[in-house]
Amino acid sequence: MLVKPIRLKLIACMFAALPLYSAASEWSYSGHSAPDHWAMLDANGNYSTCAKGTHQSPIDIPSASAKHINAASASLGIDYQRSPLDVVNNGHSIQANVAGDSRLEFQGKTYKLLQFHFHSPSEHLYNGKRFPMEMHWVNQASDGSLLVIAAMIKSGEKNAQFEHIWNKILPQKKGEHIQISQAQAPDLGRILPSVSKHFFYKGSLTTPPCTEGVQWVLFEQPLQLSADQISAFQSIFTGNNRPASAINQREIDED
Ligand SMILES: [Zn+2]
Repeated sequence: MLVKPIRLKLIACMFAALPLYSAASEWSYSGHSAPDHWAMLDANGNYSTCAKGTHQSPIDIPSASAKHINAASASLGIDYQRSPLDVVNNGHSIQANVAGDSRLEFQGKTYKLLQFHFHSPSEHLYNGKRFPMEMHWVNQASDGSLLVIAAMIKSGEKNAQFEHIWNKILPQKKGEHIQISQAQAPDLGRILPSVSKHFFYKGSLTTPPCTEGVQWVLFEQPLQLSADQISAFQSIFTGNNRPASAINQREIDED
């Protein structure tokens, strides 16, 4: 009777010694690891939602057919603050990991701001119109659910809030981190437009594993960056946008 457990233990040891054969391949936005192939890049099927999901993001928002809801039922309250940032070039975008206590309330639930990052050109479209860039603010509730705030970016005025992240120290190489102190960090509460209507819909992460159940809130009023600020980002990342997915039977709301 002692043989069985010992044999099982041996087998377990043999598996533990095997190389991690089924690790996911690196995904990208072009070539053999482009969005069309994401679902096949993970041998364990962890990226299968990228192909099989029916509530995927981004989408082309048909604003004329958005269902109007009153602002009270949307009840979006954003309380973002100035706090230290860990800005990293993660190989897919420039991402700022946010310390501190920036949070938002949406429909009675509290979400904490984890990070923000950028895509160029925009991932979402408004009535078929694509913007030069799009900013995503990723927020998470204590139950793990995600809410992403999106703002389109158009070319216009120089954005002074981003000066320290942009003009001096945008991390150029994959894996490079830059720390920004609280004093030099942008006031996150002053970046998003104070007056804007919003689109609301249920979607997914726009990168593998394309997990669904993400609440999207899109500002209709775009942000502005100067042409120089946009080209500074595009000199590092251009084409880091997933193509639009089908809306299928989803409802899009507007406040
Ligand atoms: Zn994003």
